[in-house]
Amino acid sequence: MEEKVMPSNFIHNIIDQDNESGYYDNRVHTRFPPEPNGYLHIGHAKSICLNFGTAKKYGGKCNLRFDDTNPVKEDTEYVDSITEDVAWLGFQWDGEVLFASSYFDTMYECAVKLIKKGKAYVCDLSAEETRAYRGTLTEPGKKSPYASRTVEENLDLFERMKAGEFADGEKVLRANIDMASPNMNMRDPVIYRIAHATHHKTGDAWCIYPMYDFAHPIEDAVEGITHSICTLEFEDHRPLYDWVLRECDFETPPKQIEFARLELTNNVMSKRKLKMLVDEKIVDGWDDPRMPTVSGLRRRGYTPEAVRTFCETIGVSKSKSKVDYALLEHCVREDLKLKYPRIMAVEKPIKLIITNYPEGESEMVSIENNQENEALGSRQVKFEREMYIDSKDFMEEPPKKYYRLYPGNDVRLKGAYVIHCDDYKKNENGEIEEIYCSYYPGTKSGQENADMKVKGVIQWVGASDAVEAEFHLYDHLFLEPEQVTEDNLLEKDGLLLNRYSLEKTRGYVEKYAIEGEYDRFQFIRNGYFFFDKKAEGCVFNRIVSLKSSFKI
Ligand code: ATP
Ligand code: MG
Repeated sequence: MEEKVMPSNFIHNIIDQDNESGYYDNRVHTRFPPEPNGYLHIGHAKSICLNFGTAKKYGGKCNLRFDDTNPVKEDTEYVDSITEDVAWLGFQWDGEVLFASSYFDTMYECAVKLIKKGKAYVCDLSAEETRAYRGTLTEPGKKSPYASRTVEENLDLFERMKAGEFADGEKVLRANIDMASPNMNMRDPVIYRIAHATHHKTGDAWCIYPMYDFAHPIEDAVEGITHSICTLEFEDHRPLYDWVLRECDFETPPKQIEFARLELTNNVMSKRKLKMLVDEKIVDGWDDPRMPTVSGLRRRGYTPEAVRTFCETIGVSKSKSKVDYALLEHCVREDLKLKYPRIMAVEKPIKLIITNYPEGESEMVSIENNQENEALGSRQVKFEREMYIDSKDFMEEPPKKYYRLYPGNDVRLKGAYVIHCDDYKKNENGEIEEIYCSYYPGTKSGQENADMKVKGVIQWVGASDAVEAEFHLYDHLFLEPEQVTEDNLLEKDGLLLNRYSLEKTRGYVEKYAIEGEYDRFQFIRNGYFFFDKKAEGCVFNRIVSLKSSFKI
């Protein structure tokens, strides 16, 4: 990966101050803490680039830690995909992959410590009662009648919760803080709940599980994290984060710093909603190339470099904003532009016969791979009597300024001869079936009439060398993502889902496209495409269209 220093942001200013004061002994240790309950999306990529990029910039460390404290929704399939995605993005975590569930003992001990200090109590209120006691934003809550239990009673009950004596929801452990706090998160939040569920890592060892707000600060502290970067919705949870670390006696505790999450136009960015699309088969799995998941982008043909550049370009701030998807596409085009060959593919083929070229003969013509990058060299393409051209490149009755092929006109076949269009044939449906041309000998590059002037150049694929391919042309999944809720997400006939988000066409590509040296190409005038080896048959996914039509 190229050595680029991440541009500074407000988080780096905080780190600089900590380094100046020596607060963390000049250590910088971040983490990326996904919950393994879905696949990563481009929003997570922003967080990954920020956490790993920051550690790298300061010569620090970044952990990959699974926040696996909710056994019901988590699965090893997600652990594997997330690990793969982080590596694909080009980042290496410090040491082993870590799991919050390996700290369950420590978390339990912390809870016991809080109970002994009178800072936590076992509460028997039902969920409904708890809500009623909590009060509102304008009214203080009421202390639970169970808050007055003695330390001994609480220790005994908590141990019995752990031993499995109670049913789910029968009891919880709550922090004893302040029911009158203007911050609802501080009104005696639940820190442990009972869940008789099998955990993907710890199996049936536990039937009580810590709540996120209690578990997360402990995970950070145990790992020696210095700067715990998370998204803005946790801002109101920070007092609780700090409270947990203080009351559990962690020294030089980590600092939570919040930034605005990435939102993208035409996209939904929530694992729950994305999972619904997968479960309801609206898309073809988590890695469907239309999905904003990292695996979807990968399968679409996006490069990790492009995704990283995008994350860097959008920057990090505290104010919410929505990023235009076109910026991501711009980063992709910029990354692909010079790195991959520009080759010929016909999306809507018509047969073209060069009547004065001998049957059974052929010759190889050499065509440069990328006019803007000589280092990509050139390739040999087979020229022969029969070939396919794109139906867009022929018109029976051309409008003015149409310089491609039409009866009586001359064009150059890219990299090869100039041809003259003599005639064409239609089928019974009135569609053009074959075009008949003659070529001008000596007009190939390096020959005596190579400089014969014509206004148009068109692309072609020799019939015997052509590889039949399916092109998958993608568009956004959502037309109005702002209005997507979990209730209306699946309304197929509503206005929200774009029914035309995938168009399939069949055509031909040069053999070079499947020979394996490259897997991404610019198909001249058609866009950037990725050879999708996971798909059945010979499929090319359109990564991104060309911004403007290119001259060839
Ligand atoms: P979602 O809301 O999509 O389900 P999440 O926040 O529940 O995501 P986690 O697995 O908890 O998913 O996220 C891991 C990390 O990625 C967290 O630190 C979280 O703040 C960050 N993150 C999640 N979504 C975004 C986003 N859209 N932009 C930036 N960071 C994000
Ligand atoms: Mg989360």
